[in-house]
Amino acid sequence: MCGIVGYVGPGSSLDVLISGLRRLEYRGYDSAGVSVIDPEVGLQTRKRAGKLSVLVEELEKNPIKDAHIGIGHTRWATHGAPTDGNAHPHLGGSHQKLSLIHNGIIENFSELKSELLSLGVKFSSETDTEVAAHLIAREYDASGDLSSAFRSVVNRLHGAFTLLCIHEDHPGVIYAARRNAPLVIGFGEHENFLGSDVAAFVEHTKRAASVGQDQIVELRADSVKVIDFAGNPVEVDEFTVSWDASAASKGGWSSFMAKEIADQPQAVADTLMGRLSSDGSVKLSEFAGLDTLKDVNRIIITACGTAAYAGEVAKYAIEKWAKLPTTVELAHELRYRDPVIDDKTLVVAISQSGETMDTLMAIRYAKERGAKVLSICNTQGATLARESDATIYTHAGPEVAVASTKAFTAQITAGYLVALSLAALRQSMPQPELNELGKELLKLPRAVKEVLESVDRMRELGKELANAKSVLFLGRNTGFPIAMEGALKLKELAYIHAEGFAAGELKHGPIALIEEGQPVIVVVPSQSAPDAIHSKVISNIQEIKARGARVIAIAERGDDEVAKFAHEVFYVPALQPMISAPLSVIPLQVFALELSSAKGLDVDQPRNLAKSVTVE
Ligand code: GLU
Repeated sequence: MCGIVGYVGPGSSLDVLISGLRRLEYRGYDSAGVSVIDPEVGLQTRKRAGKLSVLVEELEKNPIKDAHIGIGHTRWATHGAPTDGNAHPHLGGSHQKLSLIHNGIIENFSELKSELLSLGVKFSSETDTEVAAHLIAREYDASGDLSSAFRSVVNRLHGAFTLLCIHEDHPGVIYAARRNAPLVIGFGEHENFLGSDVAAFVEHTKRAASVGQDQIVELRADSVKVIDFAGNPVEVDEFTVSWDASAASKGGWSSFMAKEIADQPQAVADTLMGRLSSDGSVKLSEFAGLDTLKDVNRIIITACGTAAYAGEVAKYAIEKWAKLPTTVELAHELRYRDPVIDDKTLVVAISQSGETMDTLMAIRYAKERGAKVLSICNTQGATLARESDATIYTHAGPEVAVASTKAFTAQITAGYLVALSLAALRQSMPQPELNELGKELLKLPRAVKEVLESVDRMRELGKELANAKSVLFLGRNTGFPIAMEGALKLKELAYIHAEGFAAGELKHGPIALIEEGQPVIVVVPSQSAPDAIHSKVISNIQEIKARGARVIAIAERGDDEVAKFAHEVFYVPALQPMISAPLSVIPLQVFALELSSAKGLDVDQPRNLAKSVTVE
């Protein structure tokens, strides 16, 4: 799930590549590298293990002559350690004139490597990628035709790959191929771009097109030709990127994560925009072509990580309002366990990037079994959107920090819209009641803003607990997935033991973890939530407090009851109980950010992670 960028045109390729990689670094930061071709000097490559800054220093120490064509890569290692030698680009051919970068996993690399080794080819890395460089170079050396050598080799590769390839003998063209990994084209004036996503080139052009599955691009400064793996010409659908480069920069914030937490009122408002009228009625034009939605008898929400927790919140709303049986399944578990799926099943897939490989595999499997697929996605032109019957875009803007924040609250918001639309379509609740809920939803952006204006205490708490060995999170109903998300944020960012539990489950085991001073953050349901769940959670607080826990409660404003039992309470505005769910996650995001910063860690690029998980 690396970041890939390519450029050909009159400008400085190094500038385009480095600034593109900077925006793509969230996709992986184990190493970075570039290759450019100057017609006189030939192919020049620099690559270094570590973050992009290490490559930039290397380029200062050991400069290369700038050129008008180049490719750049930032790696998230799958095969071979994050070393200089395994960094991309990889070179091929006896004279090392070919340079290639790769995102994904070449699943048959070991057979291909044996074949090449038996022919005497020397390998300089442990990656799966290097086989592709040698194969293309050898075919080219034999035939003298780079285009056909490239196409013939990509047809031999299995697995997932976006490949970009340049050759010193052809200093005006980049060949690119895509299978099961993302690739977009950016169209400029006498210059063209390639990227893993539009962030790679959005400062240069907003005209873009996604490359489809099993397609090859021949990119020159004045022309872009796309063919399929069989060699047939393909038309691409151009779209205009709806955000500008400043949206993908820190804009004065200390980190992308801090900025993205602050972006949330806007992200939620933009996700509602044009879909929710002032009378509270919801109009999802995306549902227009999906008449069969009336007939579905169950919903499977599928996602991974934070998006799966957003799906859990959506599940509560869909079951309550649209009265449809709904389950949430981790995509990698759904795909490989023979689930019962048929044409009466609606699969709702949630992914910020729309490139999460596990989620893509799950929807492909569901579609083969006749299910309709609705996706909730934040990235225009993403593979998930292309492969779904309909897509509700969250308009959260680019999310760069690896730990998801604004995409999460926007996904929950989109989930509410889906639930209200399905309820209206199925007439599962009287329309006036649905409109009341819609009106309440309109208050969400303002309420999110109010939470952000009062998070100082959570910041202090993050610093105070910087040395905690473990933090537990409890919640009930929609507060349960919020507690899980709070724990995930802390694991991702601060590398400490954190777990989220259903408050009702405590007495069935986890309460044994409570000892003197154990911090426990409890997401307390609204006092107006049905079935007395509020008082049940108050009892849970008393149970853990009696055993020495330090209890920090997140509760609705006006809840004086909780203040009697928790050590301290962080209040959020009161909204209709279902719709208030995302408010409680904001203090947890801020807490994790501060705790991680207090430990001196990199909040935007936590260890071992990458933003968009494009491998299974
Ligand atoms: N499998 C390749 C490697 O480990 C590419 C990984 C990536 O997508 O960054 O180098």
